[in-house]
Amino acid sequence: MTVPLLSTDRLVKRYGGLLATDNVSIDVASGEIHALIGPNGAGKTTLVGQLTGNVAPDSGTIRFAGQDITRLPTHRRVHLGLARSFQITSVLGEFTALENVALAVQAHAGHSFRFLRDVRGDESLRGPARHCLEEVGLDARAGMPASALSHGEQRQLEIAMALAGDPSLLLLDEPMAGMGVEESQRMIAFLRALKGRRAMLLIEHDMDAVFQLADRITVLVYGRAIASGTPAEIRADEAVRRAYLGDDGMVA
Ligand code: ATP
Repeated sequence: MTVPLLSTDRLVKRYGGLLATDNVSIDVASGEIHALIGPNGAGKTTLVGQLTGNVAPDSGTIRFAGQDITRLPTHRRVHLGLARSFQITSVLGEFTALENVALAVQAHAGHSFRFLRDVRGDESLRGPARHCLEEVGLDARAGMPASALSHGEQRQLEIAMALAGDPSLLLLDEPMAGMGVEESQRMIAFLRALKGRRAMLLIEHDMDAVFQLADRITVLVYGRAIASGTPAEIRADEAVRRAYLGDDGMVA
């Protein structure tokens, strides 16, 4: 059996008396899309926080790319190839799409400090940035101010910024949030095109998207992974059906 790219082993995080992460063991293989789903408050954000290094687990281990990263700071994890999609708030509206990605390339390249005009003129930053924009299908928008992009395009831009460090694993926290049907469909098509080249851990409430994209799905309820399997296995799982009864689409 091949070693997974990312794995957690009996991860535990407590907030007072609450077990937000209850002995969670999950893994993501190279190139696969693994979706993490669960009702509000199930512990998805807490789990992702532990993967990125923002939340310290109480016990258990996290391994990535052959290393124990449980106690590594965030920037070291990013350096190893574990990237979280940037949030819209980190996109600079008055800068063009290309300049935003160039800034992310600059950050990943580890330059201590540079003037912003470098981003506007520096081809060593703009070249790789253009490549990231192509990868998310935004190359035609390279010269537009980020604020002029549609909501869906801004989310694609965030992913382009996450790609700046050439990660092997992308953590995508609700990439479809706030999107209409058409934009969601475009995002699904784009993530499908990205699949295989990058592994993804996808946290998403849009069940249509999850079932269209995921190779495997893990269901969290009250901090515990109650089921993990292929979309067909999850659809047929009794405990999952009970947990989601009444939720849109899941048991249809
Ligand atoms: P949602 O889908 O609503 O974002 P979630 O699945 O991401 O929810 P978390 O945000 O991880 O769930 O929360 C899991 C549980 O841990 C919740 O009961 C929440 O109230 C609690 N929790 C999260 N962060 C903290 C914190 N910093 N201090 C105390 N309790 C917390």
